[in-house]
Amino acid sequence: MNVLVYSSRKDEKPFLQHAFEGTSYRLQFEDSHLTPRTARLAVGFDAISVFVNDRVSAAVIEVLAEVGVKTIALRCAGYNNVDLAAAKAGGMAVVRVPAYSPYAVAEHAVALILSLNRHIHKAYNRVRDGNFALDGLLGFDLHGKTVGVIGTGSIGAVFCRIMRGFGCQVLAHDVAPNADCLALGVEYRTLGELLAQADILSLHCPLTPATHHLIDQAALAQMKPGAFLVNTSRGGLIDTPAVIAALKSEHLGGLAIDVYEEEADFFFEDLSDRVIADDDLMRLTTFPNVLVTGHQAFLTREALTNIADCTRDNLEQLARGEPCNNQL
Ligand code: NAD
Repeated sequence: MNVLVYSSRKDEKPFLQHAFEGTSYRLQFEDSHLTPRTARLAVGFDAISVFVNDRVSAAVIEVLAEVGVKTIALRCAGYNNVDLAAAKAGGMAVVRVPAYSPYAVAEHAVALILSLNRHIHKAYNRVRDGNFALDGLLGFDLHGKTVGVIGTGSIGAVFCRIMRGFGCQVLAHDVAPNADCLALGVEYRTLGELLAQADILSLHCPLTPATHHLIDQAALAQMKPGAFLVNTSRGGLIDTPAVIAALKSEHLGGLAIDVYEEEADFFFEDLSDRVIADDDLMRLTTFPNVLVTGHQAFLTREALTNIADCTRDNLEQLARGEPCNNQL
């Protein structure tokens, strides 16, 4: 069986090659994203594998159906980038990796908070430049602060546990409270209460029509002056121009993001010798109190191993005609 792996990155290839060793699958790696044009490359492939920024639209699915692809294997948990109805109509099975390491993403959210608060990124550069001055590096104790968490599923729950370990009060908002979080002492609140009380707000819910621009101008206005906003979930949860306005007015105290609404055209690529035309992204990188990473929260050895193993297991289950729990 042949699988065309779109958006393949150098760092993940060895993990995929290792996972599929000794199986009947032949993997071919394709660096480019899946688009209506690159979908034509899937001629002769039974399955394709895609990642977060591959837009699996109805137009793409039409081409995939034409060239005979039967399965779309997502190497990620979120599937907001897939037109599931079109896939179903095209007779294609879609599988995903529902959880590969909640620790990887939750720990990255914590790394962002610590770096933003204690200015580690600035201190690193200063010291390398022989500048040992402390001006501008003032932070605050996390101990005793109130952390608000939106979405307490697998990643949000790990994040809550870590923040409880720092001695923070953790408040959460979710459509379905998590018993493990309640046992940790996490208290559930309405969204309005959470926004008003959190010193740090961290987003861990999926991007759906209900959560699109959850953090908009009105939500930002309800946040505590000087609070931090952290997003390691999906860029579309935040209305970027509204966040830029809140940073300019100094109502928002800091922003740390690993995801960006329009990231698909930029993230995972080295564009250091190119002019980046996205004014919002470029504006964000000019604020002293904004930290942006390029969708790397998942990037740990453990997560890449689990993604590769789960993708292999999903494809093998479908090929054997067995029910697959990870089928969407
Ligand atoms: P999960 O499904 O285990 O948890 C999501 C939680 O969000 C659930 O508890 C759900 O009830 C809650 N939720 C859904 N709609 C909500 C709403 N309207 N308001 C409040 N809560 C709501 O998912 P997870 O594995 O914890 O992943 C969370 C998100 O993290 C994913 O959807 C994905 O977008 C993102 N993610 C990012 C990276 C990265 O590298 N940056 C990696 C993996 C996942």
